[in-house]
Amino acid sequence: MSADIERLLSAAENAARNAYSPYSGVKIGAAVFAGGNIYCGCNVENASFGLTVCAERNAVFAAIAGGEKSFDAIAVYSDDVMPMPCGACRQVIAEFAPGCDVVVRCGDRTVRIRADELLPRSFVFKEKDN
Ligand code: ZN
Repeated sequence: MSADIERLLSAAENAARNAYSPYSGVKIGAAVFAGGNIYCGCNVENASFGLTVCAERNAVFAAIAGGEKSFDAIAVYSDDVMPMPCGACRQVIAEFAPGCDVVVRCGDRTVRIRADELLPRSFVFKEKDN
C-alpha cells in the first residue's frame, strides 16, 4: 500500500470516530483523495432510517462541495464491519470517478478494487449502449 493510500486510510479511520450511529452502533469513516486534498465523511444515521447517509457519500459530497470534479481514490474504514460500499455509494462513486481505487479496511484486513469493478455497467445518463 502506498504512503498516500495509508494516509487516506488513516483519515478514514479518524473520520469513523465521528460517526453518528446510535441505532446500528456501526462506525464507518471514508476519505477521498482529490486534487491533492483529502475530504472526509462518516456515516450519519437518523431516527427515520431512510434518511441515513453513508460515510462514502458524505466524503464524496464534501469533495464536490470543495470544488473537486473527480478523485483518484476513496478509502473506507471501520473497526466494526468490512465496510464495502453499498449500491447507492457505488453509483455515486461511479458518477465522479469510475476508474478510481476503492480501498476498504476493517482492522488488519484490506481490500483494494477499482470502482468500475465494484459496479460494472453503472447507470449513465447519456450513453445509449452501456
Ligand atoms: Zn453506502
